[in-house]
Amino acid sequence: MSKLMAGRTGLVVGVANKRSISWAIARKLDAAGGRLALTYQNERTERDVRKLAAELANEGPVLPLDVTDDDQLDAAVAAAADSLGGIDVLVHGAAFALPDDLGGRFVDTGREGFRTALDISAYSLTALARRVEPHMAARGGGSIITLTYIASHRAVPGYNVMGVAKAALESSVRFLAWDLGEAGIRVNAISAGPVRTLAARGVPGFGEMADQAAERSPLRRAITADEVGDAALYLASPLSAAVTGETMFVDAGFHAVGI
Ligand code: NAD
Repeated sequence: MSKLMAGRTGLVVGVANKRSISWAIARKLDAAGGRLALTYQNERTERDVRKLAAELANEGPVLPLDVTDDDQLDAAVAAAADSLGGIDVLVHGAAFALPDDLGGRFVDTGREGFRTALDISAYSLTALARRVEPHMAARGGGSIITLTYIASHRAVPGYNVMGVAKAALESSVRFLAWDLGEAGIRVNAISAGPVRTLAARGVPGFGEMADQAAERSPLRRAITADEVGDAALYLASPLSAAVTGETMFVDAGFHAVGI
């Protein structure tokens, strides 16, 4: 079988370091023959992202992108499309909430914290989707993949406003799937089980919660970022040609049990 991503290109948003789930996804898409543009949020992460990008077999551009900045959104998508010769896949792995809004009581979330979490973690998907749409449509379709968590529909203590942001993100996936489906563009989310990353460290009690999830999952273990990468490769490739508007759990089955 030829490689699943041969001749295909992707824009990957959300790599901060080697533990980032988006990096695991990038490695899988690259190994499958895809050529990728990676973005970095700011100068703090630029060096790490450039070093990682250099490890890819099919090296592509590395571009600045803070998703709260419309000019940077325009520039990053245009530069990626230009340099790669088009965009087939978008991986969206950006999320953020103010540290004070993770842990403690959700009821104490302020207006600015709510706005920030929803803007960066949910609205950015729509902002990116609108910009990649013409590039994907020009190639007869594409695949947009975002990352979510089960706290979108269950109250996971400490996750708080990020759970509300994930609910908005998953709803956005369905509306975007409808809007972009006409052009053959598919939009899906992967709901990952706990993975020890930079973002996860910001959630108080994450380690204990991850251990409990591993014990209670049907597979009785934690998941790896690589396993999310494999699922993303499926969603990026023609193997999932009729799958859109879906939130797919990659969580060792945790979502399916009631204990
Ligand atoms: P991570 O910290 O490696 O990735 C989060 C990324 O968001 C970073 O690259 C960061 O630079 C980026 N980001 C934050 N604010 C941004 C902004 N303004 N502009 C551009 N980028 C910005 O952590 P991760 O765990 O790999 O997170 C990736 C995604 O996976 C997130 O959506 C997260 O919610 C989701 N997720 C993580 C877990 C887990 O347990 N780690 C589980 C389920 C879902």
